[in-house]
Amino acid sequence: MISLCILISSRISKMEDKELVKIARWLGITDQQFEILLSIYKLEARGEKTTPRNIEREYLNTYGRVPQRSNLFGQIRQLLGKNLITKERQGLYFVNFDVMYTMLQDRKDRFIEELNEFNRVSERVKDYFKRAALQTTKHRVEYLNHNELYDALAESIKDVDRFYASANFPTIFYTYPLAAGIGRSNYTDMVWRRCFKKGELNVLYLTTLNIDFPFNHAFRVYGDPKKAYKECVIIIDQLWNQIETHDNLDIRYLKEPHGMDVRKTDVHAGLRICRAAKGQKGRGDHREYKKGARRKIQHLSGIEMKCSNCGQGIQKTWSFCPNCGIRLNLRENIEAHPPRGAEYLEERQEYYDLVFKNFKILRSMGDILYGEAEPVRPRLNDFGHINILNLRKFSLSCLSPEHGYTLYKIGKIIGHYLVNAGIRNDPKIGRLIDKLNKPEKPWNIFENKTLQKKCEEFWIKLGIGFIKLDDINREEGKLKYIVKECSSPRIHSTRPPCFMEMGILSGMAEALFGRFWDGIEHRCKSPGDPYSEIEIYLHDRKEEPVMELLTKDESNSILNEVVGLMVDRSEIRSDRIGDFFYIAIDQAMNYLLVALSPGHAILSKHCGKICGERISREAKLRGINDAFNYLRDLFLYSGVGIIRIEERIGRIIIKMDESIYASGVENIHMNLCISLAGFIEGALNEATDQKWEVTETKCIANGHPNCEFQCKLIT
Ligand SMILES: [Zn+2]
Ligand SMILES: [Zn+2]
Ligand SMILES: [Zn+2]
Repeated sequence: MISLCILISSRISKMEDKELVKIARWLGITDQQFEILLSIYKLEARGEKTTPRNIEREYLNTYGRVPQRSNLFGQIRQLLGKNLITKERQGLYFVNFDVMYTMLQDRKDRFIEELNEFNRVSERVKDYFKRAALQTTKHRVEYLNHNELYDALAESIKDVDRFYASANFPTIFYTYPLAAGIGRSNYTDMVWRRCFKKGELNVLYLTTLNIDFPFNHAFRVYGDPKKAYKECVIIIDQLWNQIETHDNLDIRYLKEPHGMDVRKTDVHAGLRICRAAKGQKGRGDHREYKKGARRKIQHLSGIEMKCSNCGQGIQKTWSFCPNCGIRLNLRENIEAHPPRGAEYLEERQEYYDLVFKNFKILRSMGDILYGEAEPVRPRLNDFGHINILNLRKFSLSCLSPEHGYTLYKIGKIIGHYLVNAGIRNDPKIGRLIDKLNKPEKPWNIFENKTLQKKCEEFWIKLGIGFIKLDDINREEGKLKYIVKECSSPRIHSTRPPCFMEMGILSGMAEALFGRFWDGIEHRCKSPGDPYSEIEIYLHDRKEEPVMELLTKDESNSILNEVVGLMVDRSEIRSDRIGDFFYIAIDQAMNYLLVALSPGHAILSKHCGKICGERISREAKLRGINDAFNYLRDLFLYSGVGIIRIEERIGRIIIKMDESIYASGVENIHMNLCISLAGFIEGALNEATDQKWEVTETKCIANGHPNCEFQCKLIT
């Protein structure tokens, strides 16, 4: 029995004191709050006014001390909040006994509940101990690496009859060598046996059926795009056949990718693989998903297309040819439907605006040309070694000669920047260009000596080379340039390789003169001529120039020459121009190469890897420390970036400041240094005889303060 007893007396006995303290605790208020409550009641009982001043006095009389005014009001507010007192007319306070009794009754109920529980549990103490001894922990969180996860999955699927999974692509359709290559042989084997052979396991997949995943897996395992393509064809066939044959297999198409993976095992309920869907994704009408899956599979398998460049079979959804690497719609445009001028202009403008808006280094090109510019990279300055550009160019063309066209196009866009962001940056020259742009005398713009001089000067300042406008042929609409010291001296080829310079000159002519310009390189130092001669010609329709491309073998041997020059740190051009290029050119080229298509990003990494391997071999790097020391030094020397290495558990982190590709780039939500990730990966593989996976995890162009690469050893 719990009752409330409040004594009104100036002297409170020890025993009563203890009980009062208990009441305060049961009411859930502090001692001081309880003392205030008591003071209010004492005034009330004597028929005195319960004003704050009187409460304060009463409190002082009883306890011999007084709370601060602000504190007193604070405590009174608390009591009001709990409804233990009410505030009535003229600001007087009264104790509310009804509320106090209710609160104490609640308290009593809780005590009784607890007592019942106590009785129930205490009778079965031994049972609980017994059960606890038999049972392992209910929920266990385990961190599994990739192989462990799939082995654990295989183990769990062994004796259940339903299996739910969601995936970008169902790996159970992979061929055995591919499944084994990515460390999922046990898992795939188990599903095959129980689902396809014995028919005792029901499998339901939610999947985006993204063919890029098997392609990338196969590319990683075989290292050969042709084989990877064939693998994908087999996988799609298999997918189609198995769905037709097995009723216990249910593949449902998911438009949006799923969220995070959670593996949940419950002895009684069987195995469940849950992927926490993002928001509402993954819910909806199941029949729709089934229909969706069929449509998607038909889409993947039904359309037979060929690459117009090399004849390789391709799928409509692919953006690049797995054999020759050409961007499919680009190549199609070149051969089947030449793009109309408007499309070309639109594309050109789109890249132009995007890069100009987001790349600080391109915007400061004008300052470089017309005076002292604050460098975007305070420590390395804004120039990079010419051979970094050459490694990039020739590794690309040794994978696919067709990339000569890509480099040419990129050169053209750079030519436009050179005029619009560079030469025009001086208002005086800008006005001169506008004045010379007269429809009745269009050739004045090329004949003007001041402008000619500016163009020559800028080529030197940016480190591209020495140019001289040698001849203007108005009748045929042609300009002939002599180029001394282009970007690829001291290498040997059977035909002129300066596609980018050709593009830059054509792009500049388009920006100055208007209409369409394209070029031909007639001779060059690399095939043994004393200088390079580039002719550019005017035409009204947009058409791709006919270029004599380097063969794969030739690009391959040029790449080896560049690697040799790089490792020897040979000087390759005269002192008048030096071996360094303004990195705006590297940045524009890198961005356009990485952003062209997802396939180009993969190719960029692959090209970087080839270069890293060869550099490592040529420099005879041994072991991981040797490799890191060499890379640190090489990156500094060639202006690629400033790296420092941090070892963590199970991985190595490389932090890089002042990236050649990303310095001064706004947050465009891209990792731009993917080719350097490949470069490091190749160098590590070669130096350690192990397999590494290097990924760029942070990038300036992705909003981070510096770039970061994660290096993981693949066992
Ligand atoms: Zn092809
Ligand atoms: Zn050349
Ligand atoms: Zn980066």
